[in-house]
Amino acid sequence: MCDLEVDGYGQELDDRMVRAAKAHKCNECGRRIEVGETHGVYVGLWEGDFFQMRTCSRCTKARKWLEARGHGWQAGDIREWVRICVDTDGPEIIQKARVKRLARGER
Ligand SMILES: [Zn+2]
Ligand SMILES: [Zn+2]
Repeated sequence: MCDLEVDGYGQELDDRMVRAAKAHKCNECGRRIEVGETHGVYVGLWEGDFFQMRTCSRCTKARKWLEARGHGWQAGDIREWVRICVDTDGPEIIQKARVKRLARGER
């Protein structure tokens, strides 16, 4: 197991997928989110401070992957953390995650 841990306390207030009414920029990778594109909006508290994060579908997927692994995540580090986790824990966890998703009826 890798030992990725969030240093601090966060609380989730809202986490949903929305369609872009106008173009946005992914707060995680900087990619442009086009009008009509489904992407994630996360609203939370970090150490008592309100924050909102808008992420493209790929970064949203990466974040949820970390959450499913029981890891926290840090804005700006999501993709790096996924890489570290995969490097450390190997393909075995990917297999497990896939089985879990299948069990929930997702692909
Ligand atoms: Zn992104
Ligand atoms: Zn891990």
